[in-house]
Amino acid sequence: MDKLYAPTTIRDIKNRYGFKLSKSLGQNFLTDKNIIDKIIEQSFISKKDLVIEIGPGIGVLTAAAAEAAGKVVSIEIDHNLIPILKETLHEYDNITIVNQDIMKTNLHEIMEQNHEINGQKIEGVKIIGNLPYYITTPIIMKILEDGVKADSITIMLQKEVADRIKAQPGTKAYGALSVAVQYYCTVSHVASAPKEIFIPQPKVDSTVIRLDIRKEKPVLLHNEEAFFAVIKAGFGQRRKTLLNSLTGVYGLSKEEILAILNTTGIDPSRRAETLRIEEFAELANTIFPST
Ligand code: SAM
Repeated sequence: MDKLYAPTTIRDIKNRYGFKLSKSLGQNFLTDKNIIDKIIEQSFISKKDLVIEIGPGIGVLTAAAAEAAGKVVSIEIDHNLIPILKETLHEYDNITIVNQDIMKTNLHEIMEQNHEINGQKIEGVKIIGNLPYYITTPIIMKILEDGVKADSITIMLQKEVADRIKAQPGTKAYGALSVAVQYYCTVSHVASAPKEIFIPQPKVDSTVIRLDIRKEKPVLLHNEEAFFAVIKAGFGQRRKTLLNSLTGVYGLSKEEILAILNTTGIDPSRRAETLRIEEFAELANTIFPST
């Protein structure tokens, strides 16, 4: 067989297995070795690490990860890919394929079941994947909100979503997703990937980013739920001033929100898109003072 990432390999597999690429499962397979190498290199994987991969496809990233890692567990929803992966990855003895929906997968359990490599405790957990684009954001938020104890998440996703995740206050791309992800992680740009390197070609370009999960949060919160409620309300009506967009949060009246904004020293006529994460935290902590 040719190299796994070669377009001829994908064609050959489709023919031999009668495999049809599923648009609804976001199956856009990578055909560029440089990007594959970059994802693996920038995940900083060692032989003492467990790699959890989301959506292996025919296994291009899986094989590269298996070379670098102690163990790889790949979660793939499409049962038609399981016999294919058995063939393409047969030479590796450190890969487990789990035929499951990532949204229904208990990653804590996967980590518990794979906490050792040849009798040695694993040192780190790296999550990687060329994500299915129809559920990029839910996958990221699930991993972060579940508090999965991984070191990093290195992923390929639509450029537009990556731009939103990386965005800074005062920019058009800055929104609830930027604040939420940056609360849990630091974000690094790894690579840009033009749409031409996928089969089939998607409509949009992609970006690889690495999310390094913070050991300590950047702000101290009395109540995490209040923090996310403020962010949601603020960006839910992003054209409105904070005074208007926040009115109603936790049933608070306009007068009460005005008093809260005055306490924090945040100008009530500002919009959520100008607020730094520390300012969202201050607002939430004023709504929910510590007891
Ligand atoms: N890693 C391969 C590559 O780079 O060529 C495939 C990437 S493709 C963009 C996304 C993969 O995720 C597909 O194999 C698809 O079947 C799988 N997938 C889609 N939805 C999934 C889900 N909910 N849970 C797990 N895998 C999923």
